[in-house]
Amino acid sequence: MPKHEERDRMDDEVLTQSVLQIRCFPDPVLKKPAEPVECFDAELLDFVERMRATMRMSDGVGLAAPQVGESRRIAIVEYDGRSFVLINPRLLEQRDEQTGEEGCLSFPGIYAEVRRPAWVRVEARDERGELHIHEVEGFLARAFLHEMDHLDGKLFIEYLSPLKRGMIRNKMRKRAAAPR
Ligand SMILES: [Zn+2]
Repeated sequence: MPKHEERDRMDDEVLTQSVLQIRCFPDPVLKKPAEPVECFDAELLDFVERMRATMRMSDGVGLAAPQVGESRRIAIVEYDGRSFVLINPRLLEQRDEQTGEEGCLSFPGIYAEVRRPAWVRVEARDERGELHIHEVEGFLARAFLHEMDHLDGKLFIEYLSPLKRGMIRNKMRKRAAAPR
């Protein structure tokens, strides 16, 4: 998910080198359910670091591995000074509802109102394999659910009306077909 407010871009050269390419709709990898992570090794640590660099360069608050072409159950969320790594996440409990504007780094510049639970309890491993229980609310709950959906090949436009969803799909397909 992108963030709305401006932030300083990090133009560090090392960061630029480790940045991954973000896949945009209709890239088929976005529709594919991701595979659980079984091996918590140095490669995973490095990959999560590169995801973080990619998300920060894109002014994002969340990024899921399928969005960088890797069908693995890994997502990261950073918002309001808090940072989360969600590996093999599982939704344990949800409460209440919220409606708010949502975007996605795989749909640049497109925002829509989406209704989601207002509070969630999520179990997930971090990049070292440690199990955590996260209880988050408001925008963080929205970001968690948005990124966790990506791991099931589900996109935020699926919560919209067929008309709105169709308009966004057409726009994205035209963009993908346009010469660069
Ligand atoms: Zn997204």
